[in-house]
Amino acid sequence: MEPQALPEGVNPEFVVLVNGIYYDLCVICNNNSGVRTYCPVDQRKHYVEGCGQLCPDCQDRADFIT
Ligand SMILES: [Zn+2]
Repeated sequence: MEPQALPEGVNPEFVVLVNGIYYDLCVICNNNSGVRTYCPVDQRKHYVEGCGQLCPDCQDRADFIT
C-alpha cells in the first residue's frame, strides 16, 4: 500500500500517519499534536512561531512562550 504523500518540505520524523492522515508531532513531547500536517500555519491552534507545533497539553504548560 502506498503511503500518503507528504507535503513538500515536511520532515517525516515530525509527523505521524493516523488513518491515512498526517498529523504534526508536538515539538516538546513528540506526541500527536492533533493538527493536520496540511493545515496552513495561520489556521493552526497551539502553533508557536519560531518553535513549532505544540499539543494542547504542552501549550498549557508553555504559556511563557506565547
Ligand atoms: Zn506536547
